[in-house]
Amino acid sequence: MDLCDISEIRALLARHGFHFSKSLGQNFLIESWVPRDIAAASGAGAGTGVLEIGPGIGPLTVELSRLAGKVAAVELDRDLLPILGETLSECPNVTVIPGDVMKLDLRALVAEQFPGLTPMVCANLPYNITTPVLTRLLDSGLFSAVTVMIQREVAQRICAVPGSKDYGAFSLYCQYKAAAELLFEVPRECFLPAPKVTSAVVRLTPRPAPECVHDEALFFQAVRGAFNQRRKTLLNALSSAFPLSKEELAACISAAGLPADVRGERLGIPEFAALARELGQRL
Ligand code: SAM
Repeated sequence: MDLCDISEIRALLARHGFHFSKSLGQNFLIESWVPRDIAAASGAGAGTGVLEIGPGIGPLTVELSRLAGKVAAVELDRDLLPILGETLSECPNVTVIPGDVMKLDLRALVAEQFPGLTPMVCANLPYNITTPVLTRLLDSGLFSAVTVMIQREVAQRICAVPGSKDYGAFSLYCQYKAAAELLFEVPRECFLPAPKVTSAVVRLTPRPAPECVHDEALFFQAVRGAFNQRRKTLLNALSSAFPLSKEELAACISAAGLPADVRGERLGIPEFAALARELGQRL
């Protein structure tokens, strides 16, 4: 069966009495090049175990099963389980795990499902939980690569450089944890139902924490402080985030080698690291 053929999909869903759920971010792929290209970009190979989040009716799952040693696909919507039983019947290396990716014990899942394999993630994510899912995946430190389709706007934020309009605390968080690449865009017409926005595929390749950061908690406190009030100068934004006087904060900014009137949106990881070191000395 062609899992991207719209008439076959409609017939399959009707036979199972399935109705799309907006709250579960259900937009299914209907163009076969999309799951093929996402799977190819994921780095899946015989030595890898791929965690897929939200297989839907399984178009990406089938492509991943052709490439990977093992695929574990976590699906929250129980109504999709009988459908997946049918569409994945010829994929012996796929296990469907009913559940919520935000609640599963990812470490236990990886240990059980992927012994001897390199774990990675590949998914067309439910867009309403993009940020918390990516945070959970990157924080886990379990995966060698995370390749996901998300809203283009979020993809641009993740990959944004300092000083650009899309740059913010989430760009810094992702780039602290991983090398981020925006691979390609996917138009709305490739989905059923069509979402309101264009999508894009990003690949995050986790890496060790940057050596310039000595105190991760303080680093992210400075990042959050700067971006909570991004229209303000760094000095004014930090004064709401740290129990230091304006004079002390100005001294930190200057000792970090930054201009007195700089805004946080201009700073990259090395600059926030230098700032956090100075703040740490005065706190
Ligand atoms: N992979 C399919 C495709 O590309 O056609 C479906 C992708 S659809 C954008 C997102 C999928 O994630 C849906 O199947 C939805 O039921 C599932 N989902 C939503 N929230 C979830 C969660 N918290 N945990 C696991 N799956 C979830």
